[in-house]
Amino acid sequence: MPRPHPSADNLYQLLMAPADAGPDRPAVVEADENGVLHEISYRRLDALVKQYAAVLDGLGLDVGDPVVVEADTCAAAVAMLLACSLLGLPFVTVSPHTPDTRLATIIDQVTPALHARANDLPARELDRHAEGSAVFDLGGLVIERAPAPRVRRRREVLSTDTAYIVFTSGSTGRPKGVVMSHRAIVTFLRAMLADQLAGPADRVASTSPLQFDFALFGIGVALSAGAALVPVRREDLGSPRRMTAFLRDAKATQVHGVPSLWRPVLRHDPDLLLELTHLRSVVFAGEEFPLPELRRLQEMLPAVRLVNGYGATESMAASFTDVPNPLPADQERLSIGRAHAGAEMTLVDADGRIVTEPGGSGEIYLRSPALFTGYWNDPEATAKVLVPDPVEPRHGTKVLRTGDLARLDETGELCFIGRADFQVQIRGNRVELGEIEGTLTRLPGVTAAAATVVPRGGDQILMAAVTLTAAAAAADFDASAALAFVGKQLPSYMVPRSVRVLPELPLTQNGKVDREALTRRLTAPR
Ligand code: ADP
Repeated sequence: MPRPHPSADNLYQLLMAPADAGPDRPAVVEADENGVLHEISYRRLDALVKQYAAVLDGLGLDVGDPVVVEADTCAAAVAMLLACSLLGLPFVTVSPHTPDTRLATIIDQVTPALHARANDLPARELDRHAEGSAVFDLGGLVIERAPAPRVRRRREVLSTDTAYIVFTSGSTGRPKGVVMSHRAIVTFLRAMLADQLAGPADRVASTSPLQFDFALFGIGVALSAGAALVPVRREDLGSPRRMTAFLRDAKATQVHGVPSLWRPVLRHDPDLLLELTHLRSVVFAGEEFPLPELRRLQEMLPAVRLVNGYGATESMAASFTDVPNPLPADQERLSIGRAHAGAEMTLVDADGRIVTEPGGSGEIYLRSPALFTGYWNDPEATAKVLVPDPVEPRHGTKVLRTGDLARLDETGELCFIGRADFQVQIRGNRVELGEIEGTLTRLPGVTAAAATVVPRGGDQILMAAVTLTAAAAAADFDASAALAFVGKQLPSYMVPRSVRVLPELPLTQNGKVDREALTRRLTAPR
């Protein structure tokens, strides 16, 4: 069986190290289809990994042959990812809710040797198939259709081999296959250990779909620390009551999720949050947390540490910053602090100069030992974002050009401004959509806001949408007063043409605001 050299960084070795120290401790705490909680120990998880690996090995796949893993986050899925890691088979995660067309595109791009799905999922009728197919559950891995055996060129898995390929959701452009090596992901997770994001006593609830690297983050942070991973089932996320009851019963101490995870419970039944007596920290990431909602979450969970995780799939994440407690009333933007252990963020202004003065702003360049390898089979797109270090371009090391804008504050921390591509030109003026959104959320009763630009008659016009608290929604929303308020705070070219109240903002599969869907919604005839 191909194996990583004991000294080589490998995701399996890092995540299963706690199996030696505390084999009977829970690695995963999960609910079965009846909602009954089960603990899967590190020993049992490791045995499952070895069982799957033996079956995979029997297929004669070569190091580097990609395997699509389709599942919700669960113990069996984790074992599958780790079995792939052990054998040097890059895993490509998709969730059961990934649309067929998107999965077919992914299969087309990576030509996987095998498509392994959780046993309770139906086989898909796709235009494009992986060569082989298999199903897995806690009982084992069963091959349905074996791929043709490969010529095995090598038996040893190296640190530079690909651990996984995650396709971004496209909230930052067209979907791209982000390739992470074992070295990069292991280095990243070691930095999380150094920063003590989680410890062995934690029970880390993960809420993102498996195709989003936020789910891999949860698995990695929990298992590398010897903590328990607590996957929250998708059906439990749909209802505030079910979600909080699950988190309470599973004794979750840390919850990972996008900001929109908290929106339904904050809106419909915030008192349910009081039941989360084991909760110590909430890590949110993926987009800005609208401040009115974040304040409300902090009010309901005053003893809980709220952590703003910033970063992109291309480096798993860049920084983790505690939200001040309490959040000052006049604070308008959240700090994204400083990069995690071993990494640095540098700001570069529009003229290519390094920003060192407080108050200055620019694009974030991330210098990190945990950067992705490249976009799968796309050297051109890779070269656009893996660029020479602006601080010292001559030494040849590449850094990540993030496409995100930030401002340097007095203490040397960074404040997120928005994406460079959300910076639009309105009648020749540079406009940050985030600034308009931030202003709208300062209106009483507004919980979240999103702005977009729409081409009209050769011009670009701004349109906005807001969501409201239940009380504000019951009263009549005065759109012209809202726009007048924006007009008092911002220059006239930044005032949207219209602002519409929506029951909720449209979300992508990963739970981030879906700006394309929002634009379609705002421009559709009513
Ligand atoms: P996609 O959304 O296409 O799946 P990513 O998840 O990698 O791709 O998105 C990364 C982007 O999300 C970052 O470049 C940044 O613009 C945004 N983002 C991530 N975390 C935060 C945060 N804490 N605050 C603000 N923006 C964030």
